[in-house]
Amino acid sequence: MAKYKCISCENICEISADHWKCECGGLFDVVYDNLTFQIDTDNPSLWRYKAMLPIEHMENIVDFQEGMTPLIQRELAGKSIYIKLDFMFPTGSFKDRGAAVLVSKMKEMGIKDVVEDSSGNAGASIAGYCAAAQIKCSIYLPAATSENKIKQIAAYGAEIVKIEGSRDKTAEAVLSAAEHTYYASHSYNPLFFEGTKTLAFEIWEQLGQKAPDAVIVPCGNGTMLLGVYYGFKQLVDLGQSRKMPKIYAVQSANCAPLYHAHHNMEAGVILPTIAEGISVGTPIRREQILKAVQETAGDFIVVSDEAVKEGLQTLYQMGIYTEPTSATVIAGYRQLMEQRVFSREDICVLPLTGSGLKKG
Ligand SMILES: [Zn+2]
Repeated sequence: MAKYKCISCENICEISADHWKCECGGLFDVVYDNLTFQIDTDNPSLWRYKAMLPIEHMENIVDFQEGMTPLIQRELAGKSIYIKLDFMFPTGSFKDRGAAVLVSKMKEMGIKDVVEDSSGNAGASIAGYCAAAQIKCSIYLPAATSENKIKQIAAYGAEIVKIEGSRDKTAEAVLSAAEHTYYASHSYNPLFFEGTKTLAFEIWEQLGQKAPDAVIVPCGNGTMLLGVYYGFKQLVDLGQSRKMPKIYAVQSANCAPLYHAHHNMEAGVILPTIAEGISVGTPIRREQILKAVQETAGDFIVVSDEAVKEGLQTLYQMGIYTEPTSATVIAGYRQLMEQRVFSREDICVLPLTGSGLKKG
């Protein structure tokens, strides 16, 4: 049975439509009692892990038979690595993992109306899954957001609510709307992270039920990073894996609040970057992200836009068409190889987050 646990006051309560954060203001995590690890091997999608997900009745799942994305082995910087094509999802990004579980649980809770505030991949995922679940979805965006960027969200029939002023004004507006409408947030709502944890289960299963030595992920809001952490942690807790992989978080040199915090450096100026998916100045789950990387003895690194462009070219030459944010892990891996962080034997996994077909 899944419940919410507040990360601040540790209060435990039911998962319900009434709340997405604790009365004390703290964020929730999802916790389980009496969980047994069980895979439905007949199901070729991420729903094979339903025993470890918070959906109680399977008729409520919004099912695209998504997930189990390819894990391919390639040679890069003189070493064999695994690349996980995690953009191969209905809306074109790994964020569908989060939306699949969050929107299915919303359906189970009888929620008919939600708000969210992402102009990027998370917004498209929530809008797409809400369309499939026939849930009304309003996406709050800064008025300056380009029409091109919201094409996919609008195509799914989501209502676009444009807010004048800065990104902060949009955040204020959506939090105020969330007082009376359910907040299907990709950063606040813990159910989203229950979905992204399936990435860890898949990597473990595809490597022959074994955790890799390292996972290198792009990091902004930490949706993938925390998913990877929770997933592998659950595998360890349930006796399926003896170790956690080291988690390496790649931030853009132009926007690196977590990198600066981890290395006890002064906060840097935030500038635009081509790695838009990780351009997050104030990550909501900051402390959890920092703790996850520290606990696994991983690291935070930064990459320049130039290095990201090179990484993108490398992917294109492999026949892989992704958005720039995905290529941060190629740039990050190269940097770690130059620093001789990995041995030839180390198993490194690089998940790619979003399809290049989404651009333009
Ligand atoms: Zn609390």
